[in-house]
Amino acid sequence: MIRQCLICDSKAVLTLEAARGITLLIGLADGALRGSQNTHENAQGRPGYNSLLNGLAATAPTYPSALRVADDVGKYQFAGFDCLCLCCGARFDEEPAEPVPPPP
Ligand SMILES: [Zn+2]
Repeated sequence: MIRQCLICDSKAVLTLEAARGITLLIGLADGALRGSQNTHENAQGRPGYNSLLNGLAATAPTYPSALRVADDVGKYQFAGFDCLCLCCGARFDEEPAEPVPPPP
């Protein structure tokens, strides 16, 4: 579903779930990359094989810290809202709040 900004009508709207998922994915990829660089292999072995294994092994321990960063993105960038407009920076919820009944 394509969302539009409530302020500027831009379609460049990032949802909280997408931002958390992207952040988590980047955190896990960073952990795998760092793990693959901690390989001390000799040139006689299968090149890259130990790096691949070390990278995969480093992914699971990285998950808690990557999840904390993803939570921080949701907490500080979205400030409790569901959507963030990438053009004007407006934050809003997908579902509008309950309309306030007019005073009698
Ligand atoms: Zn906007």
